Amino acid sequence: MAEKHVYYYGPEGTDGDAGMKNLLGGKGANLAEMARLGLPVPAGFTITTEVCTHFMKAGGKYPKGIREQVADALKKTEQAMGMKYGDPDNPLLVSARSGARQSMPGMMETVLNVGLCSTTIPGLVKKTKNERFVYDAYRRLITMYSDVVMEKSEGIEPEEGKGIRQQLEKLMDKMKKAKGCKADTDLTADDLKTLCEQYKAKVKEVLGREFPDDPEEQLWGGIGAVFKSWNGKRAVSYRRIEGIPDEWGTAVNVQSMVFGNMGENSATGVAFTRNPATGENKFYGEWLVDAQGEDVVAGIRTPNPLNDDTKSQQNKHLPSLQETRPKLYAELDGIRTKLETHYRDMQDIEFTIQEGKLWMLQCRSGKRTGTAALNMAMDMLAEGLIDEPTAVTRVAPAQLDELLHPIVDPKAEKKVKPFVSGLPAGPGGAQGKIVFTSDDAVARAKKGEKVILVREETNPEDVEGMRAACGILTARGGMTSHAALVARGWGKCCIVGAGAIKIDLAARTMSVDGKTFAEGDVITLNGTKGVAYEGSLAMMDATENPRFQTFMKLVDKQRTLGVRTNADTPEDAKLAREFGAEGIGLFRTEHMFYGAGSEQALFVLRKMIHAGSDEERNAAIDELAPFVKRDIKATLEAMDGLPVTVRLLDPPLHEFVPQAEAARAELAKALGITIEEVKDRGADLHEVNPMMGHRGVRLGITYPYLTEMQIRAIFEAAAELKKEGRAPHPEIMVPVTCSVAELDFVKPIFDRVKEEVEKQSGVTVECLYGTMIEIPRACLTADKMAKTAQFFSFGTNDLTQMGFGFSRDDIGGFLQDYVDKDILEADPFQTIDQEGIGQLVEMAVQKGRATRPELKIGICGEQGGDPASVEFCFKAGLNYVSCSPYRVPIARLAAAQAAIAAKK
Ligand code: PEP
Ligand code: MG
Repeated sequence: MAEKHVYYYGPEGTDGDAGMKNLLGGKGANLAEMARLGLPVPAGFTITTEVCTHFMKAGGKYPKGIREQVADALKKTEQAMGMKYGDPDNPLLVSARSGARQSMPGMMETVLNVGLCSTTIPGLVKKTKNERFVYDAYRRLITMYSDVVMEKSEGIEPEEGKGIRQQLEKLMDKMKKAKGCKADTDLTADDLKTLCEQYKAKVKEVLGREFPDDPEEQLWGGIGAVFKSWNGKRAVSYRRIEGIPDEWGTAVNVQSMVFGNMGENSATGVAFTRNPATGENKFYGEWLVDAQGEDVVAGIRTPNPLNDDTKSQQNKHLPSLQETRPKLYAELDGIRTKLETHYRDMQDIEFTIQEGKLWMLQCRSGKRTGTAALNMAMDMLAEGLIDEPTAVTRVAPAQLDELLHPIVDPKAEKKVKPFVSGLPAGPGGAQGKIVFTSDDAVARAKKGEKVILVREETNPEDVEGMRAACGILTARGGMTSHAALVARGWGKCCIVGAGAIKIDLAARTMSVDGKTFAEGDVITLNGTKGVAYEGSLAMMDATENPRFQTFMKLVDKQRTLGVRTNADTPEDAKLAREFGAEGIGLFRTEHMFYGAGSEQALFVLRKMIHAGSDEERNAAIDELAPFVKRDIKATLEAMDGLPVTVRLLDPPLHEFVPQAEAARAELAKALGITIEEVKDRGADLHEVNPMMGHRGVRLGITYPYLTEMQIRAIFEAAAELKKEGRAPHPEIMVPVTCSVAELDFVKPIFDRVKEEVEKQSGVTVECLYGTMIEIPRACLTADKMAKTAQFFSFGTNDLTQMGFGFSRDDIGGFLQDYVDKDILEADPFQTIDQEGIGQLVEMAVQKGRATRPELKIGICGEQGGDPASVEFCFKAGLNYVSCSPYRVPIARLAAAQAAIAAKK
């Protein structure tokens, strides 16, 4: 039997189901599932994602047998709907829509009303007795088809504003002006008829081809264009951002058209089974009378509220479906319940009412804010809809980030009036400089500027700029417009539908009630309320949702991997403890020489660096000891009862050489030498390749007394704390090692100092002796390293640097090229390269534990807070990950989700 490429769905004989997302895409799989549930789904069929992959590889050719399969499925569709495609008397019209495995809202193409042509128009007019409707549908088809099939899918890239769609829209505006009409709906059937002729002439003029008048040609043109849109610019950008593989491909859904634009008794809408912004268990949606679905998502008209719960400042004057069509509302509400109990998750649905009959066009798991994800997970758990592990998987680790994100300080807000208000589409606060185009947003963000992207309407073409901006503000659009969906998915602050804004794109200005703002002016957005302020307002941390703590308890119940923090100050240590850190995985001692309050310690360190003899150096080291002890003690105290891995001094000494003349003079005076000599001694420390130079353990090999002082400071600090009744748990870690011989060199110092301090203080101090693993040779010889080391901590910043040979300080110059050209999937300094560096990690774990089965192993490179890397660390058998304080909850959640996934 030929391979199956086409899956039918309808009232009877549906082929697919919700479990077939990879093959049918999310939309196709869920249409099939809804049909199986007996919901009113217009019949149709799905052409698989495999066909897309084939189509791309074979340069636009379809696999064998597909035409017959499409013809069969179309026949079944015709039977189910009681109409016939291309029939002059009773014509069926269809749509061709994309649908990938993972939803990519608005990133690919759709063609509606396919099948309308000179032979079918009269039949449809006769049948519907609505000439105006038919010509309105026809002009929409011409617009979409010429834009999607004849222009975009042919790779034509017109200048900004010169696309066929815009040119046709201009004709429409001209006609409206000539007829004195305000809205599209004011145009008569005759007007639209004339307009369609003008449209077709324009298409011929601009694109050099006739608009096709054959239903078969239209159908295959639509299907091919949707497949091609998988490789369209914005789909590719979106995939890069979301990490969706290129080879997935999209399915094409061909579905019988139902019409929300057949007059007052017809409508279309989008809804969420719960509020996607807050998570509240309330039916939430928007709808428009006498409109097609694209009108709601494109944000051209301000949609009506679905019900009382959806009323806002912007739409409360518009009638709701609940008020005006209570029966249909009740039916829809029943479907809402059915879908939620079936899917056990919040669904995002699209519906159409055609002359009083309700049709379901789509359902999918709805995108939601972090707050909503948390609230829904906890509510559904309480409702018995889901169990604890499922609740834990319902919040994405990155969404927690959003929960901990800053908001506009309400006190600051009280003092000023917003200059504009709109719909609260994406929560939190944001402030930055105004930009008016996606390109400008990207360019400024590259320079490190914070920008707010201000646009007329919500356009998915802006996806790169939306990503680069810290906030988005648009003049038009509703809560379910594409930009709102995308922003919400990213947890980005976003306000849409701020109608008072008038944008002059050419002048790069916007005006609101007579006040003009220029590009670069700073504004502040409150995306939770949907208001914007002039200038920059004070921001603060979001007050913690009380449910956050409960949720994190559930998380910890599932988690087996430990989570520590990288912290160098007592403040950071305390913050991390509040976020649930179970210790410090990396205390970088050298940080005590940076920042506020470090002047004195830094001065002594400089004396040490510039010493002219061992004597002078050792004297400076002794002088440094109290500072080191003080800082370590403070952090050990803040982490009382929990382990603190203190790393011996790591960075190259030349980083601390004074550059300012005054500092040099002061140092010269203290050392009794000339400023010139200070300069010379500093210059002697210069290295061509400092990252691979005199750093880490190498300093301790050259200057063992420096190591001894640090180890003594750690033991003394711990002994003092113990005497004060505290429970310090220091661990001493040697950095940048490549040979066990280095560890063996330092170990006797560790043992001797431990004994001396214990003797002096009269208290025993338990302390592990371990090493960082950050040089490939250390991984290769990990069995030997583990003979002396009691623990390993992967320094994946350096391990990535030395494994790839990419300088961690210079990769910024070419990383983007590597990602754009598909050489790297992601920045390996942010997310661990599992294929290469991951192997080094796995090898070191296996070799290390072969020598010392109880070897404690963690990671303290930046990747320790990245969810994918956390999952990798879990699988590799690490005991803990360590990351910056704000990422601790994210790492906890990622670790719990890894454990849950492993059980499945
Ligand atoms: C590392 O190399 O991963 C590490 C944590 O050390 P540092 O970043 O201080 O070199
Ligand atoms: Mg390092």
